[in-house]
Amino acid sequence: MPEGTERSKAQYLLVAHAQQPLTLARGLLREAEEIYYRSRGPQPVATAGKWAFGKDSVVTIPDGEGEDGVTPLRVRTAPYREEVVLSRRRMLRAVGRHVAANARNSWKPGLMGRFFGRLLDLDDRKVTRLRMPAGKVTVVNAPTGVGKSVLLRAAAPLLAQNRAGPVAVVVGQIHESLSNTEHMRETEGELTRHALDEQIRQDDDHVRKTAAEFALAHPTLKVVPLVSGYRLAEQAGRALVQGREQRFEELAYGCDLSTWLTDGEPVRRGAEPCLSLRPADAADDREGPGPAHACPRLGVCGKYALIREAVDADVIVTNHHNLLGGSVPVPVETDKGVLDRISLLEFVMRRYPVLLVDEVDRMQQSWCEMGTDEFTLASRGTHRSSLLVEVDRQREVLDAASDRRLVPVLFKARSLGEQFLNYVLEGDLWLDPAEHDDDDRLNSGWHVPGAWDRWLLDKLLHVDITQPIDPDVYRDFRKIFPDRKKKKRNPPPPRYAHLAALLEKAVSRDESHDALPPVKTQIDRALAKLGVPGHERREITNALLVRAWLGSLRQSLRHLKAVLAGMGRREQMTAGRDLAKALGTFNRNPALPFGPLGYQLIGFKVEKDQHGGGRLSVQALSGDPHTSTVQLGGTIALATAGVERSILALSATAYFPGAAKEHLHTLPAYVMTDATPGSVTARAGNVSETPNGWNPIAIGGQDQASKPARLLDLGARLWTDRLSEHLRYLENHERDRARAMVVSNAYSQAMVLAAGIASVIPDPSWIAVVVKKKNTPPGGVAPPQGVVMITVDQLEDLPFTHPNVKVICAPMRLVARALNILVPGTDRSALASVWVATRPPADLHSPTSMYASIGAAGIAAGRAGPDPARMLADQSRAAHKRLYQLLSASPMLSRLPKFLKIEVLAGILVDMIQLAGRARRGGTPVQLYLVDNAFFATHFGTDYPSLLRAYYDQLTEHQQHHLRRTYGSTLTAWLDLAHSTDQPHLVHVPLPRASAAEYERP
Ligand code: SF4
Repeated sequence: MPEGTERSKAQYLLVAHAQQPLTLARGLLREAEEIYYRSRGPQPVATAGKWAFGKDSVVTIPDGEGEDGVTPLRVRTAPYREEVVLSRRRMLRAVGRHVAANARNSWKPGLMGRFFGRLLDLDDRKVTRLRMPAGKVTVVNAPTGVGKSVLLRAAAPLLAQNRAGPVAVVVGQIHESLSNTEHMRETEGELTRHALDEQIRQDDDHVRKTAAEFALAHPTLKVVPLVSGYRLAEQAGRALVQGREQRFEELAYGCDLSTWLTDGEPVRRGAEPCLSLRPADAADDREGPGPAHACPRLGVCGKYALIREAVDADVIVTNHHNLLGGSVPVPVETDKGVLDRISLLEFVMRRYPVLLVDEVDRMQQSWCEMGTDEFTLASRGTHRSSLLVEVDRQREVLDAASDRRLVPVLFKARSLGEQFLNYVLEGDLWLDPAEHDDDDRLNSGWHVPGAWDRWLLDKLLHVDITQPIDPDVYRDFRKIFPDRKKKKRNPPPPRYAHLAALLEKAVSRDESHDALPPVKTQIDRALAKLGVPGHERREITNALLVRAWLGSLRQSLRHLKAVLAGMGRREQMTAGRDLAKALGTFNRNPALPFGPLGYQLIGFKVEKDQHGGGRLSVQALSGDPHTSTVQLGGTIALATAGVERSILALSATAYFPGAAKEHLHTLPAYVMTDATPGSVTARAGNVSETPNGWNPIAIGGQDQASKPARLLDLGARLWTDRLSEHLRYLENHERDRARAMVVSNAYSQAMVLAAGIASVIPDPSWIAVVVKKKNTPPGGVAPPQGVVMITVDQLEDLPFTHPNVKVICAPMRLVARALNILVPGTDRSALASVWVATRPPADLHSPTSMYASIGAAGIAAGRAGPDPARMLADQSRAAHKRLYQLLSASPMLSRLPKFLKIEVLAGILVDMIQLAGRARRGGTPVQLYLVDNAFFATHFGTDYPSLLRAYYDQLTEHQQHHLRRTYGSTLTAWLDLAHSTDQPHLVHVPLPRASAAEYERP
């Protein structure tokens, strides 16, 4: 600090290094890159001799193998292109050529012509050229079914043929995964794994299918699908069983090591030791098992054939998850040197000057989800090991000097974690106080230390928490807890000193006995002295102890991370690496490791089993998904490949201010307004419990135990009061689209609704219900006789396979995107309406949602300008404010502050617009009905019409303008619902049809 400057007055510290800033930056970068390349060189390669892997397996590698090492993949960085342009004329011509080659595509030129005819740029001019400047994400926002996929499929080969390429096409996922809640409620480990396998398989299939379409339409181009490689061997085996020979050929590979096996277990398919061969002679060595070597066949093995093919492909196709989280697990030579592996993102950014990204808002959402790492910290009776126990086991390989650094932090974290789990399993501590209990919350069960701070401030310090909290008051409050920084210089306020000492004692682990029971009694007494009434002391004691315990645990995990990160490469244990990775040492997004919060957010969760056991897990959230998405062609491309790239990003919902996960923080460069009035209608579809009088059925906000019976009732009434009439009308007027989709929040809800409808429908085979696993109904719900059970990947074929089905019951998150149920032989949607039977849960407290909300609030608060430091400070302030607002917010939707209710609504609206899009393929109109009366119940301020009005009114004029020009009649439909003065209630109850024949065309 310059002399005479008061420290507290300083706002920014600028280092005077007496060098040209840019020269200095270049020098530092060069140095960092040299270190990076030096420390990430390829592994040594196994040569002739005996090599061990797995538990006790040994292979004998023959002479000559591996002597020349493994030839790295040569990945040349494609030169920078200032701008890539797609002209309307060329696009139409390309689509025309496509038609000439295949008459089945004759509808495409008209669709493309209409697409460009209605596409507007930022100045509302018609578009003759799509300009994609390098460094920017060029967003095209257009409704579902107007030609975005056709554009994507025509643009990629055109750009590749015109030497703008090669081109990378990044498609979305087939469907969204269900939430943690769903997994927790409906699945055990086996089913979860199955669901994950299925999801990855379907996503990989989608990539392969898209690539195959490209290859078929453009045989002169080299098109390569870059799939996840996840369980490739298993997928190949399944293809063989299914008799899909071509697919088997694509996927199958042989492992040469199998033929060289001389001892022990054979090589397990899918778990080959490609990078983990160890000298067999050194396996028993006291010095440890020796460094891992790479298989000598790594450079030629069929397992990595696709990535070798991709190096000189004209077009590659991959998906969001693979782009953001995939890697190239073989040695790679870039312009700067040779690395043992690189991320797929780096590979794509180096090789491809232009990326075409479908469903870009979903990609941002995936980026939010992927910033999450989860691992088991402690477990009891669940047959699940904890990473800390694994580190403890593996630390045998460390020398004493390293081990003495590790032992104190490792055992502190272990003892805090394991004892906390014991306390929760025994019911001495709990993470879900009674007053926070509500079935409306997502029940993610995640707890971030500090989540109850506002509640404690209210109860303990009697702070008015409806007003902004004085930072000094909050600072003093935090000094009560043992994880405060610089303890000696930060003593707790004298009034709370005794309480602070007790909390310190609780987590100190110095006692020879279990100190919790006496400490709880002492805290209770201390609270009594502070004037806390007796009926509140139990909950406050628990909240204080949980806050102290988890805060200390989080602190010890950070210390552990620092020790693990400081270990040299030779000292790295696999579990240590995994732990350090899960704790964010190796960030999934090293270019932008933290969002506006500026640090990693850590949360804890306890899951109990029925046998008295359970596990404590940790979730760590990091990265900056919002900035990363809009900077994909800028900062991210520069950080990974050293050169900016052009990105064309397509979506139907990329611009939606307030939707934390989906809204891209940039204006769409091109929009197509849904201008056809009435093409989307959103209406009330609620039904009465009783045929005489109006007593509408609500599901959201009701207690969990009563929901199945209510849903059963709702299903029956929905058919008799609404669907029967609606479908009869469709049978008579638009027969090929006489299908309705009824969506809910879970597989089990879909099945109960199906049972309700089946109880009154003339023919139960008119109902299809989506189940997770083939022919397996969700646990505890018996499938009604005669209904059709299908998995989500069978849905698109439903009009072919089950033409009689009129009602489809499915979980909303599975069908909201990317699903096309078409009238056979056409591009028109076979669905006419969507019925939302249960209000979607208010997902605000799941770690991903919280992180998205915090990041979005931060990014929205700061705009680029002449004072970047101030911008960052504003963003950080807004992110912290949102963090504490979320931590202190009730999990009940009805008790949330209005701005958070609006944020929940914005996310759900995006889902609804996407959902309605399922019935809009080929430009067909769609009717969306809100069935659950929780959508309309006004007494808690959670009714959608008033939230919709509040949402729209709180937008700036600029945002309203852009929302109107982006969504046109879709927005009008929602605003109509918001301002509707009609009583949505049904007064006339039609009689149910008595027989199937009554539904047929007269
Ligand atoms: S690189 Fe190929 S041959 Fe070598 S271990 Fe892996 S799968 Fe087997």
